[in-house]
Amino acid sequence: MGKDWETKPSLEEKYSLPEIQDIPCPSCTKGILQISRNVHTLPDGEDILILLMECNACSFRRNDIIPLRSAFAPGTYSLTINDGDLTSKIFRSPTGVIELPEADFEIEPGASAEYWITNVEGILKRMIQFTNVMLTHASKDDANYQKIESTLEILLNCLQGTSPFHLILRDTIGGSYIASTKTDNLQFEPIKNKE
Ligand SMILES: [Zn+2]
Repeated sequence: MGKDWETKPSLEEKYSLPEIQDIPCPSCTKGILQISRNVHTLPDGEDILILLMECNACSFRRNDIIPLRSAFAPGTYSLTINDGDLTSKIFRSPTGVIELPEADFEIEPGASAEYWITNVEGILKRMIQFTNVMLTHASKDDANYQKIESTLEILLNCLQGTSPFHLILRDTIGGSYIASTKTDNLQFEPIKNKE
């Protein structure tokens, strides 16, 4: 023994939870979510994050329980969606890049990127929305028109669960995270520090 007096890093420090910037309320869009986070260790040794989100303007309130595995470390998450389950949660920090390789589609953080909490369905819908906007601004003679159309078709198939696809979340700084209920479908490749 003899190590008992050493201070263990707290669970919060262990997972280096990122600073969360102001997230607008998804319900009223006027309020700002007040977010409190607590990390707990379950009796079986698994760490979980309990997230409580409350709007300061309306009655919106949500609890989320997130299993923590390699949470929030810098690296690349790769999620395979092959059963139409679009409920895996995505936490994208302002430095995270989301990619859907099958559709050759990437969402890079904008200049004023915010913390984005969504799920696979939310990401697909955002991509479809972008693609529709691109189509309305493109001319049919445009060389890119067919490519945009085929991207849209792939994205719609992903949303309907008729074709398997991957979601990649790259974050070289850290703070992004994918929480999936199916651990077999999620891989994480940490960024290795250069010597
Ligand atoms: Zn609200």
